[in-house]
Amino acid sequence: MALSSFLNRFEEPATLKMAQMGRDLSAKGIEVINLSLGEPDFDTPQHIKDAAIKAINENYSHYTPVAGYLDARQAACTKLKRDNNLDYTADQIVYSTGAKQCLLNALLAIVDDGEEVVIPTPYWVTYSEQVKIARGEVVLVRTTAENGFKITPAELEAAITSKTKAFMFSSPCNPSGAVYSKEELAGLAEVFRKYPDVYIISDEIYEYINFVGAHESIAQFEDLKDRIILINGLSKGFAMTGWRVGFTASNTELAKAMIKIQGQFTSATNSVAQKAAVAAFTGDISSSKAMTAEFAKRRTRVLELIKEIPGLKCFAPEGAFYVFPDVSSYFGKSDGTTMIKNAEDMTLYLLNTAHVSSVDGAAFGEPLCVRFSFAASMENIEKAWKQVKEALANLS
Ligand code: PMP
Repeated sequence: MALSSFLNRFEEPATLKMAQMGRDLSAKGIEVINLSLGEPDFDTPQHIKDAAIKAINENYSHYTPVAGYLDARQAACTKLKRDNNLDYTADQIVYSTGAKQCLLNALLAIVDDGEEVVIPTPYWVTYSEQVKIARGEVVLVRTTAENGFKITPAELEAAITSKTKAFMFSSPCNPSGAVYSKEELAGLAEVFRKYPDVYIISDEIYEYINFVGAHESIAQFEDLKDRIILINGLSKGFAMTGWRVGFTASNTELAKAMIKIQGQFTSATNSVAQKAAVAAFTGDISSSKAMTAEFAKRRTRVLELIKEIPGLKCFAPEGAFYVFPDVSSYFGKSDGTTMIKNAEDMTLYLLNTAHVSSVDGAAFGEPLCVRFSFAASMENIEKAWKQVKEALANLS
């Protein structure tokens, strides 16, 4: 029996594949330290859990409006005003099962066959595959560590053609940790002003995990706001990856388009999780700040540990919880049995010899690097990087 050709259009997420390989090794009794997945190792804050329990007891157990309950959408507006000084109304918010579905809703709502979506590298693995699902063409613009892994206005302009439909990026960025400043966003905004038909998908899911200062959203540029689809959610900032809650903020026409799409896919996100979102977005965010303070300590330590390893060049992440070192000085080296030809070989070597799982940078569009999460306990971080150091020392 043949399966659909649709399946050949896109790849499965490299991050999930790598996590599975780590689990397979663990099943054989080998202790693997998982630095491949992108999720906070903290518990959901108590007041959010309480709101969800209350919602269950109050029987919020029915289908919700496709865009989400009105109070949940109002709560997203409260959050956008409080944290970002952005004015949105409830009819501009659409809740989905995680930021991932928000991104897909957005692409399906705007991209036609063959239209181009510009993505600066390194980018979150899912972006390119979702563009392909939407039958768009992926246009990658390679950024470098020297430029802080950020696209410059000139590079952006050079990538825009008559077929460009959207620009898609995350700040803070997964995997590089780059955080765009207001001035850098203003530079990109200048370019977008010249191309009024280009949408901007701004993925701000790592907003709270920022080590350099205030988060800046490109939606602050009022004249561009109408064509910006801002994406945020609960997964990273509130340690709620499994709850599957994200939202888009956009103009109402786009919101209606995304509602139409979602209405045939998932109907809406989970009712109880929406009530949890009300508590998260209108409540105290001190636990999110405490989590970020903990990530900041780990970031400092990981950067120290990496400095001790010869041949690794690492950009200091400004946000999110990953380091993305350039491992290319090891390409062509061997431990006598395994030759490291590229970053994928490096991840497999580290999994099999150091028992640390990481992700090949090529999956994020940057083949010289490997992504390691620091959303792990300090103890595991120390242990993992000691094992990585030893494994790399055996390569010559
Ligand atoms: N955007 C980026 C940049 C991410 O790293 C992730 C999760 N890894 C998501 C979106 C998806 O988040 P969610 O769990 O809310 O679907």
